[in-house]
Amino acid sequence: METRIQKVNPENFDDRELDDACLILKREGLVAFPTETVYGLGADAMKEETSKKIYEAKGRPSDNPLIIHIAETESVYRLAKVVTGKAEQLMKAFWPGPLTIIFEKKREVPYSTTGGLDTVAVRMPSHPVARALIRCSGILIAAPSANTSGRPSPTKAEHVWEDLSGRIDMIIDGGQVGIGIESTIIDMTEEVPVILRPGYVTKAMLEEVIGEVAMDVALLKKPTGELRPKAPGMKYRHYAPKGKMTIVEGRMEDVVREITGMAEKWKDRGKKVAVIATEESKELYPIEEVYSIGSRKNEASIAAGLYDILRKMDHIGAEYIFAESFSEEHLGHAIMNRLLKAAGYQKVKV
Ligand code: AMP
Ligand code: MG
Repeated sequence: METRIQKVNPENFDDRELDDACLILKREGLVAFPTETVYGLGADAMKEETSKKIYEAKGRPSDNPLIIHIAETESVYRLAKVVTGKAEQLMKAFWPGPLTIIFEKKREVPYSTTGGLDTVAVRMPSHPVARALIRCSGILIAAPSANTSGRPSPTKAEHVWEDLSGRIDMIIDGGQVGIGIESTIIDMTEEVPVILRPGYVTKAMLEEVIGEVAMDVALLKKPTGELRPKAPGMKYRHYAPKGKMTIVEGRMEDVVREITGMAEKWKDRGKKVAVIATEESKELYPIEEVYSIGSRKNEASIAAGLYDILRKMDHIGAEYIFAESFSEEHLGHAIMNRLLKAAGYQKVKV
């Protein structure tokens, strides 16, 4: 299959530029498009066969459900059996935006989209291209991240091309996305709502609107027999570069010393090493192979740079990767959740 690329300027475009993409979606094809979180791989969510195509293109396990993207609040009532008052408060406060809400599903939502679950995940993106695409195609779009299953999520059209060219009909190139990590997922089917995946919308922000919110305890730990994350997708090795990655935690000077020591040891053995540092620390390492992920003064810059740097590790062929650690407060929780998964939960304290 030939994958077409359609460039669209998110700040200034005409809906007609999306005509071909909309036609592809209506005809049950696959289109990757930018959202404010990461690029999504879209297809008609309400047809059994089209959502199956998404799993095939990504190589995604079929028990890992898809998020349905909508452009109007009314669409929720086509998908969800029950919409509680609290869920409505969240929709009002955070939509359109990077929050995904889990509801009990209506019969019409195919099990291929929900990975066999009786619940459905719904989000209203704020990205103008995503919104225009949902509107012009007239469908509800199932869209997981537009990467090959197991690879870091795409934050640029080039990342999508790298993973999916030849496997999907079109990529809409709207440049680099803003947030750079996937949406927060909250399960509203529980007595006390539970965060299943941390993201840009933090626990504190949610609690300000609806009161007590719980956190899936499995989120910063390695999944084991009893301790399994409730979002099926969170149990897979994910977001991972090919090299062996270790996170080092401690005071900055200790971390720099430890990482330098480990990196030099592997370099001496002829291995390709790389260090994931920050704007504040990058000059402190007496070695060359240092990459800055962003500034500690601006957590959002770290989130935005995370997946690009993980992909860069593969481009340079890094065999041993050493990353600094971040506070697990606020957005840092989402950043550490993704970094720990990328490292296979390998973390040392100094
Ligand atoms: P992605 O869009 O690639 O970020 O993947 C969607 C994420 O949402 C995965 O981690 C899924 O496991 C999760 N998800 C989607 N639907 C549900 C659901 N009904 N219940 C729990 N988690 C879900
Ligand atoms: Mg994904």
